[in-house]
Amino acid sequence: MARYPSKLYGITGFPLGHSISPALQNWAFQERRFPGVYLAWPEPPEKLGAFFQAVRTLPVSGGNITIPHKEASIKYLDHVSARAKSIGAVNTFFWRDGELWGDNTDITGFLGPLKGRSFKSALILGAGGAARAVIAGLKEIGTPEIIITNRTFAKAQELAAFFGAEALPWDERGKPRADLIVNATSMGMSGRQEDQNPYEESWMRGREGLAYDIVYNPPQTLFLKAAEASGWKTENGLAMFVGQARAAFALWTEGLEMPREAAMQKAAGLLGL
Ligand code: NAP
Repeated sequence: MARYPSKLYGITGFPLGHSISPALQNWAFQERRFPGVYLAWPEPPEKLGAFFQAVRTLPVSGGNITIPHKEASIKYLDHVSARAKSIGAVNTFFWRDGELWGDNTDITGFLGPLKGRSFKSALILGAGGAARAVIAGLKEIGTPEIIITNRTFAKAQELAAFFGAEALPWDERGKPRADLIVNATSMGMSGRQEDQNPYEESWMRGREGLAYDIVYNPPQTLFLKAAEASGWKTENGLAMFVGQARAAFALWTEGLEMPREAAMQKAAGLLGL
């Protein structure tokens, strides 16, 4: 290993104050004795073009892209993966043969905890950026029925048309008999939405399924508490978060593995969970 880091990585988004990605990726570089260093680059939208110019001239070896740049970054890249193309959003960039590529590892992260599982019908709560990765992932594993419900119905309709799924008014979300319910809203996340539950316990009673909350802080949201009380299996968003980070790490290091269990513990510690 080089004595000093020789490869530069980082995350851009705006604002970036909450991101634990720098601490997690720097930890992984050290764990794997890889000569990388990962910084936080908060850049407002009007500076995104200049940012990618800097990526090409410094050069920067790779990075992550988060809200609000996931869609707008595509035009600054030479290529994007089929996955990123399928949802029109990138969260990771890296170099291959002198060309700058974009990929979307949120889909990989979302699918991680679902390995070996299949569902007859999935109900997706929310229609924001994260819901796109959720729906693309469920399409990829061949989920026959995908129903999207959202407070702003027009956004559910837009996503349903884009992915060939069904849109359902928010007030009717208790009706479908889905065996997978994914919370892709920000309801339940720490802060002012922590006391919000997007899906009532009584709607889950009398049947079985998996409740998957992509929110990871707190680890047990009101939605997951309600699901557990109804006898449903549960999954929180920590494995998704760590999964997207591991997949990005592998792209930058040409296949080095970020150790999964240790990364889960590290991420939980960084979040104070
Ligand atoms: P976003 O684009 O801002 O979308 C937010 C969604 O939440 C929208 O569908 C919005 O509905 C809905 N919503 C917010 N407040 C609501 C309320 N009071 N009642 C009903 N619906 C409400 O955000 P995002 O990027 O998709 O992220 C959503 C959540 O996923 C966040 O909590 C984020 O932390 C989490 N996430 C986790 C991971 C992970 O790796 N585990 C990755 C990405 C995101 P409207 O359209 O009506 O506003």
